[in-house]
Amino acid sequence: MAESRRPPEVDRVAASRRAVAARRERAALKRDVSTRVITPQELLRRAQADPASPAGAMRVPEFLTAIPAIGEGKRDRILADLAIAPVKRLGGLGARQRRELREFLDRRWPEPSPRPNRSRLLVLAGPTAVGKGTVAAYVRDHHPEIHLSVSATTRPPRPGEVDGEHYYFVDDAAFDRLIETGALLEHATVHNKYRYGTPREPIDAALKAGRTVLLEIDLQGARQVREAAPDATLVFLLPPSWDELVSRLVGRGTEDAEERARRLRTARVELAAQNEFDYRVVNDDVARAADEIAALAG
Ligand code: 5GP
Repeated sequence: MAESRRPPEVDRVAASRRAVAARRERAALKRDVSTRVITPQELLRRAQADPASPAGAMRVPEFLTAIPAIGEGKRDRILADLAIAPVKRLGGLGARQRRELREFLDRRWPEPSPRPNRSRLLVLAGPTAVGKGTVAAYVRDHHPEIHLSVSATTRPPRPGEVDGEHYYFVDDAAFDRLIETGALLEHATVHNKYRYGTPREPIDAALKAGRTVLLEIDLQGARQVREAAPDATLVFLLPPSWDELVSRLVGRGTEDAEERARRLRTARVELAAQNEFDYRVVNDDVARAADEIAALAG
């Protein structure tokens, strides 16, 4: 009925608001792809699952240039090779176009899959502020069968932190001795400031007893463990989106602006390392992510 319809100008305002919101969501998704928070294949999957979603509404050229290493020249060559018109949206691709685009992405940027025969030594790493510590603490509190490694550090304790529970708080001389005596499986200076290291002995003992061990360490440490224990299971924790990572970093409010900018740059570099890992877990919900990690050791 005519009187039940909303006046046209209200419709127009609502439609233009929706268009602005949709553009924002597409821009956020492009940031996710360009910072590698999600793979291009993941965006394609989301577009296929729901063609009316922001992913589905994204035009193919926009999608392609969001991928690191694709500029405008490459974008146009790819569109021509795959016979995709520039006006096409991801959700509107034909089956053949979608398959060929998918195959092209898989050839150029294969999605990592776990190496075979992983051990019960789980290494959890991920970009700054992704919430590794919270997820690891959840695993400790809800999966008592898993041994959470306690690191040594030269950082002073924060309020509420307990020596021997959160960290072994040691001074520089004591840390040097741990290194010299070979007591650490890995160690690194994090954020150019304090040193952190994983005591070797408790890990060996727990593994020998058949337990799963979880290390929550930085990327440099994860790489060292991969060298020292090549069968370790490497898990990379991802934020649900780049914007979410940025707001977690800012929201924490414990660093000044310069430090925050530096950590964001570091996070970008860290995200680019995810292909070195066996598994990627999205920290969209702490309990869910922790349970997924706990299940990885089999
Ligand atoms: P925080 O000082 O906030 O507790 O931790 C800072 C960073 O140090 C986090 O990224 C954490 O993963 C990392 N970290 C904690 N323990 C270790 C460790 O034993 N080895 C390495 N390499 N990094 C660690």
